[in-house]
Amino acid sequence: MTVHSYNRVTINPQALQNNFRIIREKVVPGVKVLAMVKADGYGHDMIKAAKVFAAAGCEIFGVAETGEAVTLREAGIRGEIFIMLGFVREQVDLVLRYNLTPVVFRIETVEWLSTAAVKAGRKIGIHLKVDSGMSRLGLLPDQVNDFLDRMCLFPSVYLAGIVSHFSQSDDLQSDNTRKSHAVFTSMCNTIRRQCDGLGHIANSGGIFNFPETCGDMVRPGISLYGYYPDGEVGMRRAQGQRLIPAMSFATQVLQVKTVPAGTGVSYGHTYITPSETRLAILPVGYEDGYLRSLSNRGEVLIKGRRAPIRGRICMNLCMADITEIEGVLPGDEVVLMGRQGQESITADEIAGWADTISYEVLCLIGNNNERTYTDEEI
Ligand SMILES: *Cc1c(COP(=O)(O)O)cnc(C)c1O
Repeated sequence: MTVHSYNRVTINPQALQNNFRIIREKVVPGVKVLAMVKADGYGHDMIKAAKVFAAAGCEIFGVAETGEAVTLREAGIRGEIFIMLGFVREQVDLVLRYNLTPVVFRIETVEWLSTAAVKAGRKIGIHLKVDSGMSRLGLLPDQVNDFLDRMCLFPSVYLAGIVSHFSQSDDLQSDNTRKSHAVFTSMCNTIRRQCDGLGHIANSGGIFNFPETCGDMVRPGISLYGYYPDGEVGMRRAQGQRLIPAMSFATQVLQVKTVPAGTGVSYGHTYITPSETRLAILPVGYEDGYLRSLSNRGEVLIKGRRAPIRGRICMNLCMADITEIEGVLPGDEVVLMGRQGQESITADEIAGWADTISYEVLCLIGNNNERTYTDEEI
């Protein structure tokens, strides 16, 4: 039996398709597009999102771990599936059985793959993860040659690509991306003396801010879901070809009450009403991904108007000030993210209030609420 929550995340597949197409058209035709669907599709339901991208022509997907890749395959996703964080020994048979593409950064994993590949009588391609300046996952430039020499001992494993990642491609002003790209290009040149694999480094920031870094394949994440890595700045810069946010988040008013001036609101009474105040009590809290740091900072939409959050966000409740909004009743729709009437609130705006980024807002809200795909027009 499905009993619905007051709170509902709605996802618009037409927006996802629109975003995939914008990215597809933005990169030159020879460049492949890998859709990042990790973190359960940045909160958009990995399986459903991947199916939407597949229907729009996407043939390559990326997840963090083996389990996610297996889930995608079992849901009927064909094409290539990258496991960006590699795998552990017990998972090596899954990599072959489900025909997954491992990203590799330790020689032991090559050995495990080789043993499994020999046993299965086939060859397997890996993508080598290199670190071109982020100090995150991957081999440093001076480790690459030694790794390749050792890989030669395992002829059933071949190098299908070279992967790196940008640390600051959301910042158009920074020189970091060009430097990192130069380090990556030089590593690719070294490696290409031994193989002709794909080189790929560009995330959404690379695609939109530094298109010269697109290489053989791009790996968009946030932009597929309708947001620019540099938030509203990117949104304004893009103008014409607009990405469209696919996710919205709504609830309903539980109770309406009027309290006199000088009344404390919520835990710790961090808000004291300056005058008589009408409050809408909402069944949303940090358990639903509506961050506690939105206390006294967030806003929601009721009757197409903005209502500020008053006091602390609780686990399952929060209070919005509706003193200026006439006629609010229990059961009225409240939009926490998305559009209502002429007003809208984006993940970027929420992220600004909570001192974080749209990525985190989407993951938190998307992955902690009931999700529905709509067939509404965009
Ligand atoms: C998450 C991720 C991406 C996508 O980044 P966005 O900024 O969301 O476009 C690309 N590559 C790697 C390795 C990632 O981890």
